[in-house]
Amino acid sequence: MAGLLAAQALSTHVDHVTVIERDVPGNKPEPRKGAPQGRHIHALLARGARILERLLPGLQDNLGAAGAPLVDWIGDSCVSNQFGAMPRFTSDLRTRACSRPLLEFVIRNRVLQNPRVTFQMETDAWQLVTTDDHARVIGVNLRHRATGALSTLLADLVVDASGRSSKAFEWLTALGLTPPTEQVVNSALAYASRVVRMPADFKPDFKLLIQRIRPPHGRRGGGMYLIENNTWMVTLGGAKDEQPPLDDSGFIEFARQLDPNLITPNASSSAPLLHDLLARSEPLTPIVGYQRTENRWRHFEELERMPAGFVLMGDAVCAFNPVYGQGMSTAAMGAELLQQWVADGGSAKVNGTRAFQKSLANLVRTPWLLATGEDARAVGIVDRTRAVRFNHAYIDALLGLTNSNHKICKAFLDVAHLVKPPASLFAPGIALPVLIRMVATTASKRSKPSPRPTKAEALVPIS
Ligand SMILES: Cc1cc2nc3c(=O)[nH]c(=O)nc-3n(C[C@H](O)[C@H](O)[C@H](O)COP(=O)(O)OP(=O)(O)OC[C@H]3O[C@@H](n4cnc5c(N)ncnc54)[C@H](O)[C@@H]3O)c2cc1C
Repeated sequence: MAGLLAAQALSTHVDHVTVIERDVPGNKPEPRKGAPQGRHIHALLARGARILERLLPGLQDNLGAAGAPLVDWIGDSCVSNQFGAMPRFTSDLRTRACSRPLLEFVIRNRVLQNPRVTFQMETDAWQLVTTDDHARVIGVNLRHRATGALSTLLADLVVDASGRSSKAFEWLTALGLTPPTEQVVNSALAYASRVVRMPADFKPDFKLLIQRIRPPHGRRGGGMYLIENNTWMVTLGGAKDEQPPLDDSGFIEFARQLDPNLITPNASSSAPLLHDLLARSEPLTPIVGYQRTENRWRHFEELERMPAGFVLMGDAVCAFNPVYGQGMSTAAMGAELLQQWVADGGSAKVNGTRAFQKSLANLVRTPWLLATGEDARAVGIVDRTRAVRFNHAYIDALLGLTNSNHKICKAFLDVAHLVKPPASLFAPGIALPVLIRMVATTASKRSKPSPRPTKAEALVPIS
């Protein structure tokens, strides 16, 4: 995804772009080996959808024509957690919903029409080619996967967008350079997904259903998401010893335990229940698992020496826990940055590479903080500074209000969709009710002994 968007973004300012891809994507949308995440729910956040539309005008219509329904992330969503159900109202947080293979297929077809972009499929990029002093990258060595034929492609700029499995560490080490430090926050979340069809009499008034159990009741969640061809992608997730099973009955039982009424009896809502729907559905694919979900940030921006003519972006730099749905949108933000950097002559400047990686790091910081702030807490990495304790209490109070306060709900989702900065959550109209709730929560904790768990709570393992 990062590579396709980078190619499109660069094509407005350079003569020619070649996309090197090790897979041979088919002539219809289907999961492929090089992007195994394509078998799991892939939601495009509003920020990503807006950038995609700027890079590829008319893309949303192309997706619609390919069968992807339009989803209002508030109006069409049934979301419940331990606080109850989130409100539903019409919003501007709207994107096309589809499987990752369809999204990729439609984008690739658009990029294929670009006369300045060509594709070299079934080809591995396996080594950087540099000047003798290793100061500048001047191309890549390639290997054709079927024939083993070796070749070299010379280029003014090489962009590594090869995802989590990027070989950049080895490549830089082979040039005698120090690889970057890595920051990893791993909540050990495992996904299990399948595509289903609902019975013909199923006429839902929603397109997205999410049931999420947050600590202390558990760290599990699940959802179903309307995609193309009137089918639904169902993904269940759980951390550590709460991983979703990959067999039919275990899958449905896991979904049953997400029932919000089981966790918080007084938070009951009229929303349909995932396990009821799942039990009525017809499976269209096997259940597949995925475990490589850690947040991983490779700090290329900190390197003193980076060869000119080489930049990295997408998951090759920063990959997120997918539960926050930020990866494709952050890749799109990186592609926009790349376009601007080339337009400003960044690739020709001394230290241009470092400047790009620094600007990218600044872009990545917000989604990184959003993802790891929650995950670090979930795995017990506790930063005891007063500021962090305050932030956690603030976010908890804010989340508690999202279910009853439309304004706070929208403000929270604007930040989650990366269209507004986290600082917007501290605007006066938001901060006041949140602070009042914080004070009330603290006062009630001080005045009450800890309650014994209810029968329903006791059923659920406390992580
Ligand atoms: C389970 C799961 C669910 C996710 N859900 C969401 C979601 O809901 N929303 C969202 O926005 N993001 C989601 N993501 C993240 C998203 O998939 C990525 O962030 C996004 O695709 C950008 O990644 P990328 O393009 O950098 O890498 P990838 O998408 O992994 O693409 C890398 C490409 O490089 C190719 N390649 C790798 N090495 C080489 C090589 N040496 N030579 C040639 N080709 C090579 C691969 O074949 C592949 O095509 C999810 C991720 C996972 C794992």
